[in-house]
Amino acid sequence: MNDTKRPYYVTMGLEIHAELKTNTKAFCSCKNVTSVLDVDGKEDAPNTNICPICTAQPGALPKLNKAAVDHMVRVGLAIGANIADFTEFDRKNYFYPDIPKAYQISQYKFPIVSGGKLAGVDVTRIHLEEDTATSMHDKGSFSLINYNRAGVPLMELVTEPVIKDTEQIVTFAKELQLLLRYLGASDANMEMGQMRVEVNVSVSPDPEKPNKKYVEVKNINSFQAAKRAAEFEIKRMTALWEEGRESEIIKETRGWDENKQMTVSQRSKENAEDYRYFPEPDLPKLYLHSMYDLDMVKNNLPELPWAKRERFSKDFGIKDSDIEVFVNDIVMADYFEAIIKQVGDNSLAQTIANYITSDLAGIMKADKDALLPTPDDFAELMSMAQGGELSSRGVKDILAVMVKNPVKPRDYAVEHDLIQKNDPEALKNLAQKLIDENPEVVASYKSGKENAIMSLVGKIMKESNGSANPQVAKEVLVELLK
Ligand SMILES: [Zn+2]
Repeated sequence: MNDTKRPYYVTMGLEIHAELKTNTKAFCSCKNVTSVLDVDGKEDAPNTNICPICTAQPGALPKLNKAAVDHMVRVGLAIGANIADFTEFDRKNYFYPDIPKAYQISQYKFPIVSGGKLAGVDVTRIHLEEDTATSMHDKGSFSLINYNRAGVPLMELVTEPVIKDTEQIVTFAKELQLLLRYLGASDANMEMGQMRVEVNVSVSPDPEKPNKKYVEVKNINSFQAAKRAAEFEIKRMTALWEEGRESEIIKETRGWDENKQMTVSQRSKENAEDYRYFPEPDLPKLYLHSMYDLDMVKNNLPELPWAKRERFSKDFGIKDSDIEVFVNDIVMADYFEAIIKQVGDNSLAQTIANYITSDLAGIMKADKDALLPTPDDFAELMSMAQGGELSSRGVKDILAVMVKNPVKPRDYAVEHDLIQKNDPEALKNLAQKLIDENPEVVASYKSGKENAIMSLVGKIMKESNGSANPQVAKEVLVELLK
């Protein structure tokens, strides 16, 4: 920190929850509303996706959804983590209306995943648990509870407290979001609460000893909010140290208030033993090394974001910013690759990337009804641009037509006379014709008015429907008028 009497050392860690994309909930066969939300974009009526298990009726027994464990194993293998051989579930006891059983099924001593690394940050563990119900407290002198979300499979990832820089929070969270989407494990949309980031922040004047009284910040609903919340806490705690009031720093949970751009104390933090964890007797213990052929699962993972980054850089040599666009948009990345394959020339990669990431993306953003041209048609357009048959203006104009009608670029260009007349012979003939038709302009030019030639260039541009290169046209005229 600047402007302080002594240096301070910041240590941060992350706890990230993500709702896993499965058809049914973690421990019953109710619909997993978060994955269904993405299909119709609408939320189901409250308390319609519930059953005796996820509402904790007496005698109801949980049944493990293996699809949730599959996701966990794949995420773990993707980040190079250890997959536990033995794993089990635990009851995390706490009393709150959004937990109908008065405990949450979670994992304590034996998480499915431990270790691994993502975006340069060491991961401590990833365990599987169930999501809570959602509650509303702002409708009157009562609370409303919706159990549709209760029992949705939730993964919790915890990093080591090794983050020093608030920008790294954003980098890590974004990379995790990408990974979960690549694996189809979660849509990880933060605004929809499918991914929730909590930041632990500790500020200490001793580089060797992080302050054990750290703050956990919750209620963060965007990457940038996570960064700002951490920055706020660093400033707040540094100021308390500076003023000799460090005894006021307590281990607590604080909530981020997006409107006020500040954190607010919520409660002092429970210790783990307050939850009275004990093994869940109603679910089987799992022996994952027998359940899965881990090598096979690993070999069958899709290309991961970092591998795609490296391959796009090596094979296509395009700009980092374009690589990032493609890594973040699998559909456009596949489209780009299909075009390159069709063109059959990697040296055109940057030109193609430019037209996709700026021109095409611009059109698609402005016009929701715009159609993606087929890779074949786009490739034809790119080959024509490369061969000098089309001006960059011509490419853009044809592209604007292609997103509305599936026209063949060459047919359209010929029909609308957009092929550049850079054929020297054709241009020469056209220039000679115009010289013959305009003796007074020629006389004026020959008497020393050099600018007169521009009127002939203008006529060439007009006759060629703008497809001639004006510089080349001028050179041809000068040559003919010598
Ligand atoms: Zn249920």
